[in-house]
Amino acid sequence: MSDSNKPRFTLTLGHLYPAQLNLYGDRGNIITLQRRCQMRGITLRVVPLGIGDALAPDEYDLLFIGGGQDREQAPVSQDIFDMKGIGLWAAVEDDMPVLAVCGGYQLLAHYYRPASGPDMRGLGIFDAWTIHKGANVPRCIGDIAIEWNGSTLVGFENHGGRTYLGTAKPLGKVLKGHGNNSEDHSEGAMYRNAFGTYLHGSLLPKNPHFADHLLALALRRSYELSDDNLKKIFPRYLSLKERPAQEKRGRAAKKNGASGAVYGIIPTPIDLDDTLEWEAHASMLERLGLRSAARAALRHR
Ligand code: GLN
Repeated sequence: MSDSNKPRFTLTLGHLYPAQLNLYGDRGNIITLQRRCQMRGITLRVVPLGIGDALAPDEYDLLFIGGGQDREQAPVSQDIFDMKGIGLWAAVEDDMPVLAVCGGYQLLAHYYRPASGPDMRGLGIFDAWTIHKGANVPRCIGDIAIEWNGSTLVGFENHGGRTYLGTAKPLGKVLKGHGNNSEDHSEGAMYRNAFGTYLHGSLLPKNPHFADHLLALALRRSYELSDDNLKKIFPRYLSLKERPAQEKRGRAAKKNGASGAVYGIIPTPIDLDDTLEWEAHASMLERLGLRSAARAALRHR
C-alpha cells in the first residue's frame, strides 16, 4: 500500500506505573501495540503515568497497567486511589479500553489482602477481590491457556493472590493453568472495555487477536470509525459488539473537530503477517497438551 493510502491516526496510551509494575515482560505488551500500530500507519504515543501523576481521561485513548510484587504494589495502591481513581473510573465508564495484568488487575478490583500486612485498597472497577492465603499455600505459577471469544489466549502466570469474582464477568475459562483462583476455572475479569487478567508472558506478542481487539476498540471509540472501515484496518480478527452510534458521537467530534466520516473509506485492507505469533501461541498450547486448540491456532496464520 502506498503511504498516501495509509490512514493517519494517532492513539495515546497511558502506561500506569512502568517503574513499579513491570514483571515478566509486561513492557512487551506496549511494544506489540506500538509495532502493530506502526505497520498500519497509526501512531501510538506512550505516556508514562507514575506515582504522583494525575490521570486526565481526555488525554488518552487506551490504558495499560502491569504486574508487580507486593512491595511494589503497596505504594501504587495508595496512589491509584488518591491520584488516578476518578480519572480511571471516568475513562472506564466512557468505554476506554484498559488492559490490567496481575498486580494491576488486583488493584482494579476491590482489594488485595496480602499474606502479611494491611489490605491494599483497589478501585472496585471489577466487582472482585483477591486474597493471599499465606506463605505456605503454593503460588499459582506456570504457563496458562484460556478460552476467549471463541479462541484461546496463552500466557504465563505467577501470583500468590487468589481472585474471586462477584458480579464481574470473567475474561475467559481456564483450559490449563490456575487463572483467578485455581478453583472455579475463571480467568480475569471484564467490565465495559476494561480487561483484567493474570496472563503475563508477555500477553500481547503471542495473542495478536487480543492486541488487535484492544486497538480496534480504541480506534472505534476515539475516531468514530464505522465497522466497515475497522474491518479494513483489522481484516482478520474483528469481533466487536455493536453499540448504538449515538454513544460515540460527542467524543469523536471533540477529538477531531469533525465527525469520523471525514476519513471516508479506507481504500485497501491492511493485513499483517502473524505467522510467527500464531506459531508461538500454538507451541504453548502444544506444551500444555491442548493439541486441537493448537491446530485451530495455526489456522489463523
Ligand atoms: N503480588 C501479587 C500476587 O502475588 C501480584 C503478582 C504479580 O503481579 N505477578 O498475587
